[in-house]
Amino acid sequence: MKNICLLGSTGSIGTQTLEIVREYSQDLNIVSLSAASNVELMEKQIREFKPKKVCMYQEEAALSLKQKVADTETVVLSGMDGLIELCQDDEVDIVETAIVGMIGIRPTIAAIEAGKDIALANKETLVCAGHIIMPLAAKMGVKILPVDSEHSAIFQSLQGFPKERLEKILLTASGGPFRGKKRDELINITWREALKHPNWTMGRKITIDSSTLVNKGLEVIEAKWLFDVEPENIQVVLQPQSIIHSAVQYVDGGIIAQLGTPDMKLPIQYALFYPDRRPMAGDRVDLFALGSIILDKPDMDTFLGLKFAYRAAKEGGSMPTVFNAANEKAVALFLDDKIKFLEIYEIIEKAMDRHKVIANPSVNQILEAEADCYDYIDREFVATR
Ligand code: NDP
Repeated sequence: MKNICLLGSTGSIGTQTLEIVREYSQDLNIVSLSAASNVELMEKQIREFKPKKVCMYQEEAALSLKQKVADTETVVLSGMDGLIELCQDDEVDIVETAIVGMIGIRPTIAAIEAGKDIALANKETLVCAGHIIMPLAAKMGVKILPVDSEHSAIFQSLQGFPKERLEKILLTASGGPFRGKKRDELINITWREALKHPNWTMGRKITIDSSTLVNKGLEVIEAKWLFDVEPENIQVVLQPQSIIHSAVQYVDGGIIAQLGTPDMKLPIQYALFYPDRRPMAGDRVDLFALGSIILDKPDMDTFLGLKFAYRAAKEGGSMPTVFNAANEKAVALFLDDKIKFLEIYEIIEKAMDRHKVIANPSVNQILEAEADCYDYIDREFVATR
């Protein structure tokens, strides 16, 4: 029986994880769950999975949930202290980080310090703190198991071969809903249009990030840390059908890829059962129906998210934090109808231009860089409107 702490249980990855736990209830057990504010769904999850503890990040939500589940044995916690307590619980074997945003950094570090394996969905954590997380995981001897479908595909393609034989990573991207559009066609794009991803059903923030290619940029930086590969050896390839989930090229020129239908349950299940592969119901890729696999170059001059990410990866230190924080804030403003689509790029670029890079930032310096970036955006882009 594997005992799981699931951070972000009410989200897209979280609910799909619980479907797998439901399917494999004889092997997987939920010890703890967390969310930000969705009390209604958390109550249902408590009644079904009977966790020992849950954490609602928002205090008010925790108070409301406490009353609703007073008849159960589940302990309700709140805030960052609550998240950290869940991650360090003795009963937990693996922590799945399916919360969105930089809020995932501290709980992930706490979990690794307590010797827990990590099923990592929260890419923002590695983007900002990869230089802290990866050495710490190595020191503690814990596994970082990627949940992101591309990184899972790379991880699967690397099984059985020594890392030194890897020449480059081929990171695939669907190109999002606006693939092929030029800059002037993006001016009046609304968030409703940006939320219509052609292949994947995901949370709102990552769906917007897919439409700007910021998500692919975050994934380049995530791959750099996970697989210890320089950004220039990570090539992004458009694969609009999302059938090739990513590939690796070895020193002899051989390419090994992982293919499948676009369904996040496979990478989630692979991370939870690694190194085993368990049966999974659902659609299979029909190669005859597919006919051909389309591959293309990304348009980095229109979809600047990727270009900025390579710059952030190259400058390193605290720059990826600023790239990520500026994007988090800009996406929130876009979803709130406060800015236009292309202003997401403008905000990220200006925030990066003004930032003085700190090499090897500590967690506090990462969080300070985030706060400073948010203040700047509030002053320059919000207060003036
Ligand atoms: P969702 O927006 O669907 O869900 C986010 C989850 O995080 C919810 O449970 C939410 O709770 C919780 N949450 C948000 N803020 C906090 C907080 N401050 N404290 C505690 N919990 C919080 O996101 P996704 O599931 O789409 O994405 C989760 C992570 O996985 C992201 O980092 C994303 O980049 C990554 N990822 C997602 C993929 C996908 O297919 N969705 C694919 C690959 C990676 P509440 O519901 O209460 O707000």
